Amino acid sequence: MHEFRYVGARLQCEGVSVEALARKHGTPLFVYSQGTVKGNYERLETALQGLDHRICYAMKANSNRAILRTFADLGAGFDIVSGGELQRAMAAGADPATCVFAGVGKTEDEIRLALKSGIYCFNVESEAELQRLDRVAGRMRKKAPVAVRVNPDVDAHTHAKITTGTYENKFGIPFEKVGELYAWAAKRKHLRLRGVQMHIGSQLTEVDPFEQAVRKVAPLARELADRHGIEFLSIGGGMGIVYRPALASGPATWWLSKEGRKVLNPTAYAGTLMPLLQPLGLKILLEPGRYLVGNAGILVTRVEYAKQSGHKTFLIVDSAMNDLLRPALYDAYHEIIAVERRARRTVVADVVGPVCESGDTFCRDRPLPLMEEGELLAVLSAGAYGSVMSGNYNSRPLAAEVLVHGKRAAVVRERQPVEAIWAGEKTASWQR
Ligand SMILES: *Cc1c(COP(=O)(O)O)cnc(C)c1O
Repeated sequence: MHEFRYVGARLQCEGVSVEALARKHGTPLFVYSQGTVKGNYERLETALQGLDHRICYAMKANSNRAILRTFADLGAGFDIVSGGELQRAMAAGADPATCVFAGVGKTEDEIRLALKSGIYCFNVESEAELQRLDRVAGRMRKKAPVAVRVNPDVDAHTHAKITTGTYENKFGIPFEKVGELYAWAAKRKHLRLRGVQMHIGSQLTEVDPFEQAVRKVAPLARELADRHGIEFLSIGGGMGIVYRPALASGPATWWLSKEGRKVLNPTAYAGTLMPLLQPLGLKILLEPGRYLVGNAGILVTRVEYAKQSGHKTFLIVDSAMNDLLRPALYDAYHEIIAVERRARRTVVADVVGPVCESGDTFCRDRPLPLMEEGELLAVLSAGAYGSVMSGNYNSRPLAAEVLVHGKRAAVVRERQPVEAIWAGEKTASWQR
């Protein structure tokens, strides 16, 4: 469920007109609904009631400090993937003791920073990383808390670029090797075996792959608890959201897939997994990212031109792949709607940005209202893996971001001044 809806002809985020926000702050503009973030978090919390657990928000999905503060205030921990994210989380007021550190490529600097800050656990992806952790912690006279990421070899049936739980990709340690590795790690003086972790992929819309993975890993977790005294099992993130149709459906059918099947929701997810997890007697960590913030954000963009080219119609907008990369990177579907709903002719059109790449396309051959120059479109479900993936390609400044709470709205990232794009650059000493 989310809090973007038409009130009369106008799209609102909670109690605020999207058009008014665009007029005041310009476009491209990310608009986030704090109530939606909170609602998503609370629905998952409610579904997990009775299970000893902690939700560690995967902050790579949306790391704006105002979003992080929202989660810190809700009592969430954080799943981080770099030293930069750890520093950002702390800058937003997060307690490092609630942070787990994932990722295949942790550098010595990042490890030192995380040890110094006192994070809860390193989620380790290789034997070489365990050796490095032992060595760095030894030099600091500390013990590094670790959990090994198990690759359960379960196909998540999601996009190839976001599947992580099979032996075809770079993540985790093969299931069969994990016992051996814990036995080895238990002898290292500067490692503390604290848990075991898995994460099989992102944007999963069925509970089956989660169930398969938990059925496979739960007995291993129990065995590692008996043998090495680990205290937690992390089942990762990956809960998907419904990208289509995100708005027309409204709250009631929010959990239906495009084929009209019932898909993953917190109740189904928790209902299936809790009976498998509860008997373990371990603390259960969850690392959702997209599920918590995906439908809580939209990208507002202005139509610059409508262009007819042969039989094709293009709506050329002022947002581009540098603002929202998902369509170009994953062929991702985002619902696109008019901010002002009124009678318009329907056209089959591509919505494209101004960047000099054919991949700079938000949708292809889609029936859309024929918009006029200067009118506003909203790209829905842009709250996760949206602004965080944005860049300055074509010297385009980073978009502004606004957080809405009821009738209030606050700029939580200023539009980047264009000079800031090249502020760190210099000409070389031999140039005039
Ligand atoms: C990206 C990531 C997540 C979050 O994935 P979502 O699909 O956004 O829920 C969780 N855990 C790890 C280790 C990740 O890399």
